[in-house]
Amino acid sequence: MSLDALDAAIAPTFKDELIGMLREFSDSRPRSLQTRLGPSELGHPCDKKMALALADAPRCNASAGDPLPSLLGSAGHSLMEQALAAYNETYGQRFLIEQKVSPLHPAEAFAGTMDCYDLHDDAVIDWKFAGARKMTDVRRDNDPGILYRTQAHVYALGCERTLGVEPKKVRIVFLPRAGFSTGAVVWEESYDRDRAEAAIDRVQALLLMVDDLRAVEHPERFDLFPTTPLQCEYCPFHRPQPTGPHECAGG
Ligand code: SF4
Repeated sequence: MSLDALDAAIAPTFKDELIGMLREFSDSRPRSLQTRLGPSELGHPCDKKMALALADAPRCNASAGDPLPSLLGSAGHSLMEQALAAYNETYGQRFLIEQKVSPLHPAEAFAGTMDCYDLHDDAVIDWKFAGARKMTDVRRDNDPGILYRTQAHVYALGCERTLGVEPKKVRIVFLPRAGFSTGAVVWEESYDRDRAEAAIDRVQALLLMVDDLRAVEHPERFDLFPTTPLQCEYCPFHRPQPTGPHECAGG
């Protein structure tokens, strides 16, 4: 093989470049750099993951997963923001959009940016731009999953305390990433403050345990926190062959 042919064979294809470009862009964005726990993570059942996150332990799997779904999700959120702003402009203010709320207001802990609050229905709305498998699961089971469900209630608590509104329901809207608006699934239930407060209480108890055990100084003690594997491939502490106490092989 000539040198030119060898160069051509090992040169990255445009597809390789594109994948790298999207990864680099994704890694540079604020959401990817976020290390503090927000409402989207409070419902995770794994105590060890929560303890490691609360201790701001080094992440070995920070770039887990293909960035494209979350990039498309962000673009979708911007689209909904514009659509609802246009609705407000035309018909009068119905939607509070992209408000920063904290369930412990005025403390900032566990704060996050809520997608939308519908003043008409007193409903917290969270948009999810879901792939085909998730859409099928949600349609079949009518269950958004523990993470999304807890997140919605924590946002509602944050709205109550930060914005002074009185949420009556939480609504999670699944919009298909590949499909039509008529394929959207709207899941909702009554706002349950107890559920939100229980999630916050659990995390605060874990924070106390991390402190009491002095796990930061003695990282081998993170093993004392029980594991409940869920979506381990996306866990920032997941490594199939752990090389230290901040890493977990998952379930
Ligand atoms: S890899 Fe899985 S089991 Fe291990 S800490 Fe993360 S979520 Fe928990």
